[in-house]
Amino acid sequence: MTTETRHFIELSEILAFEQECDSCHVRFLFELDRERRLSVTCPACNADLVSGDKDLEHLRTFIASLQYLRGRGEDLKGLRFQIEVLNTDGSKS
Ligand SMILES: [Zn+2]
Repeated sequence: MTTETRHFIELSEILAFEQECDSCHVRFLFELDRERRLSVTCPACNADLVSGDKDLEHLRTFIASLQYLRGRGEDLKGLRFQIEVLNTDGSKS
């Protein structure tokens, strides 16, 4: 018998996202429930965190959509997204 484990998350389970600077590896946490602007440059070393205006525009739209949809609560209950869970060495489960 073959079994397959699938992992799903609901919008309410997405609490934040993290940005990590490629240059100095400082990490920034963006909590979706708190007003905070997406960082374009690293406050620690001033390196670009987002490569271009188009990427920045899409990220801002994506974040705004996430914030809006999370606020819809019960109306979207039952909507789940499949995620991939990797082992600590980066391999697939
Ligand atoms: Zn940096």
